[in-house]
Amino acid sequence: MLSTMQDFPLTISAIFRHGRNVFGGSEVVTFEGESCRRASFAQVAERADRLASALARLGIREGDRVGTFAWNNQEHLEAYMAVPSMGAVLHTLNLRLFPEQLTYIANHAEDRVILLDATLIPLLARVAAELKTVEQFVIIGDGDTSPLGSNVLSYEELLAAEPGGYDYPEVDERSAAAMCYTSGTTGNPKGVVYSHRSTYLHSMAATSGTTFGLTERDRILPIVPMFHANAWGLPYAGWMTGSDFVMPNRFLQGEPLCKLIMAERPTVSGAVPTVWNDILAYADKNKDSVDLTSLRLVPCGGSAVPRSLMEAFQERHGVRIVQAWGMTETSPIAAVAMTPKSAPPEEDFEWRAKTGRVVAGVELRITADDGSVLPWDGEAVGEIEVRGPWITASYYKDDDPQKFHDGWLRTGDVGCVESNGFIQITDRAKDVIKSGGEWISSVELEGTLMGHPAVKEAAVVGVPDERWDERPLACVVLKEGEDTSVEDLKGFLADRVAKWWLPERWTFIEEVPKTSVGKFDKKVLRARYADGELEVKET
Ligand code: ADP
Repeated sequence: MLSTMQDFPLTISAIFRHGRNVFGGSEVVTFEGESCRRASFAQVAERADRLASALARLGIREGDRVGTFAWNNQEHLEAYMAVPSMGAVLHTLNLRLFPEQLTYIANHAEDRVILLDATLIPLLARVAAELKTVEQFVIIGDGDTSPLGSNVLSYEELLAAEPGGYDYPEVDERSAAAMCYTSGTTGNPKGVVYSHRSTYLHSMAATSGTTFGLTERDRILPIVPMFHANAWGLPYAGWMTGSDFVMPNRFLQGEPLCKLIMAERPTVSGAVPTVWNDILAYADKNKDSVDLTSLRLVPCGGSAVPRSLMEAFQERHGVRIVQAWGMTETSPIAAVAMTPKSAPPEEDFEWRAKTGRVVAGVELRITADDGSVLPWDGEAVGEIEVRGPWITASYYKDDDPQKFHDGWLRTGDVGCVESNGFIQITDRAKDVIKSGGEWISSVELEGTLMGHPAVKEAAVVGVPDERWDERPLACVVLKEGEDTSVEDLKGFLADRVAKWWLPERWTFIEEVPKTSVGKFDKKVLRARYADGELEVKET
């Protein structure tokens, strides 16, 4: 064999070193509701060293799990750097999970220490007694810690007691760096363990021009929680490129977010469509005073992004939303919907409304029910399968061979692929609507309905039907002060989708129930329908 390049480990420690050495002057801004606090990368790095040595003093060793139960803020970023760099494993706990699920994942991951925002003490206190492996709660900020019992330490006091600096070990690039559980819409949440190498490569991809194109000139506002698939990789990618961070902390409604955007002028911001819907509602209502034009790029995903949402932001607020697709299991970036250069300008939104174009580093195929591979012809519909260096190879301690197929991850998403690698997801396998043996795309029905001017949100679920086995039920939330009829909505749809797709069953609801990461919770809607809780109009 010819001798080749150095076998240099791809680690989070290397990302950490690069940001601190090269971009020490970049800043991390944390919103406190009225004002912001600020620290430079150099200061964050110095504090991360102290955190690493404090955790080592508490007995944390390589491979041990350190949980975080925190909003997006400076301290959470310090943990992102310190914990993996010292060889331990960062476990970002989802603070919107039900208590049983939270208990399950902290015990399953065997977290030894949990770094906890003081404002979240009441939430965690509900389960604290059940957390079998947790030895210490380390509290970020001030608050009444009595509900947590006696094993409580202060984050700031711990850091202050350290001499400064830390002698980081050389970690194996294939060792565990972080873990994240899927939100568990069915059954128990499943743990995905990221390696140093997978995170390094994913971060490189997240900085690239085919995805977010990050540079030192960017200011990143990660609204997507740091417990939701590593805030889509933005913290590590942005640290690598020296982009400033604007951390929204717990202020996640339309109004404070708009104010923060105007005050701190971020250039890039990621969040699920539900959040952008809230921001849009506030921005539209306050058109004269809200200015969002500092944002050059808004990656949006986690669920299908309605074209109408993208058009509204572009046309009314000059903000470019770019749809992306991925999952906790894919680190998460797998596809980004950047319009191909061959598309004429009038087709721009057609491409952007698709789910995304597969990114370099991820291989993708679709398969039929019998496992055979289907062509990329924009027609054949099957389950999307992916493989690559930042795609999970297994679930932590849970063998689930059904989720894998000859080394490919079965995503549970159903869709088709164009010949140029653009995917269009029509549904999650568990949400598909099969009417008389044919698929109806709930994603397309929802996206189309949300283009109606009176509609704020629309979720479409399959419900049992005597004649067709299953038919779509449309659950519609109207915008404040708007009114419309089922006939009008049906007429609107009839002009845009196949006639046999038109729902016969309609219900107006106050709000679509959401999962812990802000997606439509269709399981709840189906159960409400089955229990007769919805007032359904049949047409
Ligand atoms: P959970 O599985 O707990 O909801 P994830 O964020 O890991 O959390 O969910 C990944 C899933 O989200 C994907 O498998 C897909 O169904 C959905 N998803 C993500 N991005 C998009 C998108 N742009 N369009 C449609 N669905 C999406």
